[in-house]
Amino acid sequence: MKRQHAHKFTKVDGRKWICALPDCKWFVYQGLEVILFQRMAICWKCGDTFIFSEGNLHQDKPTCTKCGVVIPPTTNQKMM
Ligand SMILES: [Zn+2]
Ligand SMILES: [Zn+2]
Repeated sequence: MKRQHAHKFTKVDGRKWICALPDCKWFVYQGLEVILFQRMAICWKCGDTFIFSEGNLHQDKPTCTKCGVVIPPTTNQKMM
């Protein structure tokens, strides 16, 4: 039943993304991160699921927007 889960992405060796959950062998090499976008991920801070986005690429342990995702400078957004 439980075939799909939200991966807990983490960057290892600075060149590979893996899922930190036990029994999950999912991984992708850096450079192919585009397949991570819009995927469900687990936040390293609060444990909630969130949608992985470009800003998360800068994080070794991605967090959701509530916990403070790093926004790339290209978006040119002003914080409230
Ligand atoms: Zn996984
Ligand atoms: Zn969070």
